[in-house]
Amino acid sequence: MNAHSPAMISDADERAILDSIDKWIEQKVRPVAMELEHGDIWPADLVNDMAELGLFGAIVDPEYGGLGLSATTYSRIVMRIAEEWMSLTGIFNSHLMMATVVQKFGTQKQREYWLPRFVTGEMRGGLGLTEPDAGTDLQAIRTVARRDGSDYVVTGTKTWISNAIMGHCCALLVKTDPDASPRYKGMSMLITSKIDPETKVPLLGISNGKKLEKLGYKGIDSGEFIFDGYRCNADLCLIGGEEGRGFLMATGGLEIGRVNIAARSVGIAKRALKESVIYAQTRKTMGKPIAEHQAIQLKLGDMAAKTRAAELLVEDAARAFDAGGRIDMEAGMAKYFASETAVEVATEAMRIFGGYGYSKEYVIERLYRDAPLMCIGEGTNEMQRIIIAKQLVARNKI
Ligand SMILES: Cc1cc2nc3c(=O)[nH]c(=O)nc-3n(C[C@H](O)[C@H](O)[C@H](O)COP(=O)(O)OP(=O)(O)OC[C@H]3O[C@@H](n4cnc5c(N)ncnc54)[C@H](O)[C@@H]3O)c2cc1C
Repeated sequence: MNAHSPAMISDADERAILDSIDKWIEQKVRPVAMELEHGDIWPADLVNDMAELGLFGAIVDPEYGGLGLSATTYSRIVMRIAEEWMSLTGIFNSHLMMATVVQKFGTQKQREYWLPRFVTGEMRGGLGLTEPDAGTDLQAIRTVARRDGSDYVVTGTKTWISNAIMGHCCALLVKTDPDASPRYKGMSMLITSKIDPETKVPLLGISNGKKLEKLGYKGIDSGEFIFDGYRCNADLCLIGGEEGRGFLMATGGLEIGRVNIAARSVGIAKRALKESVIYAQTRKTMGKPIAEHQAIQLKLGDMAAKTRAAELLVEDAARAFDAGGRIDMEAGMAKYFASETAVEVATEAMRIFGGYGYSKEYVIERLYRDAPLMCIGEGTNEMQRIIIAKQLVARNKI
């Protein structure tokens, strides 16, 4: 079993959970998704529902109040929600990446302090790695945390952080020894918060800057974090209680994030395919439904085969994660293939829909705008292929 010790729930329990998610999607998400998307409105009511459904603790151990779901069940939930509105999955997934770092690497005291607050959604957040001058090359970050007595004092800027503005806290990658060589040895991960977790009083030295405007992924906020002399207590904020392990936490500890992006991608592709299959049977040209034209059949055939292959790769990676051990290769393959498939299938859906695919009245233009992010987030696809290749060689040494 993996570090998050998933409670291997029965098939009947999994069905019950997925049924309640389906019901929520149908009754609460579907009626409002288009309006919230096009207004770029943060979905306050749906966030409350997500808290009630337990999604903010979906993969957190039950001993801290979480659902303790396996990656397999979790990725099925993500696929279903992403089929309806992908943005929602970012609100709880980025949060769960923060929770996963604490659960996997935190001290007992930190797990007991933070996780019960995370699972209820009382303290929500995300993962703060990227900076204006450092994304893929995380070792180039410049945010510094200096020890001062029992505190760390943080200075620097993060950007593109999901949930930065509407959330409260963030697992932050920092340099605790900016002169370390190799560079990764000087990196640590801190839990930082805009409010005192107990009193909810705003804290000094941490602010958000502007909300970032995006092509897609609307509704969820992406923003900056600006630290200027922000102080946090080392016992609670330095994850794992030991400096120098932040790079490992950011890169090696979060394969579940890549499985999640892959699952979101499958959700996007499945929706694009479903809409296309319906549309192709109703839209007529030259006296027959376009589904009877071979040019459209070739598209549908490709879309269906690739979407199913992507789904199987996600299941494969999730199963490997649940079995324990490192799954860089499986997660990388799923993330790479599924996200490229999402882009391809959404693009083909737009072709099948013709002019209507370009209309904001249909969901296709949203899928088309949302899909490319899947190729960028949680490690770009260029990097995924490099990771896959390195793992291939490492696992097949001659
Ligand atoms: C909507 C959105 C939400 C995001 N949410 C978060 C978040 O919650 N937390 C967070 O920390 N970050 C987040 N990000 C940032 C995201 O993780 C980065 O954009 C991503 O890691 C790429 O970094 P970059 O943009 O700096 O690109 P760069 O690192 O500058 O890369 C530019 C290009 O060069 C390629 N490249 C770079 N290095 C190599 C190499 N060694 N070999 C081959 N190719 C290479 C890349 O693949 C890419 O094609 C988000 C981004 C977006 C757009």
